[in-house]
Amino acid sequence: VVLLSEHACPVAETARIARWLAGESSGQCGPCVHGLDAIAGTLEEVAGGVAGANATRRLVSLASIVRRRGACGHPDGAVNFVSSALETFAMEFADHARHGHCDACMQPAELPLPARRGEAAGPTRPARSS
Ligand code: SF4
Repeated sequence: VVLLSEHACPVAETARIARWLAGESSGQCGPCVHGLDAIAGTLEEVAGGVAGANATRRLVSLASIVRRRGACGHPDGAVNFVSSALETFAMEFADHARHGHCDACMQPAELPLPARRGEAAGPTRPARSS
């Protein structure tokens, strides 16, 4: 269980964590490599307000394609996280799909992530369009 403050955007936070999870794939299994990247990309589009109307449906479809298709549990954990976020923050995802990014998207990221080699530790936001 992770907690977000009232100032955080759950859509932007979900996109950021999903991108990190996609980057943690060891690159051995196609559904993990390509599926998690596609999920993260779609979430970034939603967070940036440039996703198509069927983005949520696409995310659900991608999750079902990826689930149980890897040699380890990494993609299952990733899609479980995304699926939980889609269900818990359904209103926020729908709002982003209709109106684009929100004011909270501009706030600093909250959920901590481990630093990768050569990167600074701490939250970062995914790239977004204006
Ligand atoms: S499913 Fe596991 S073993 Fe396969 S690419 Fe992903 S992290 Fe690597």
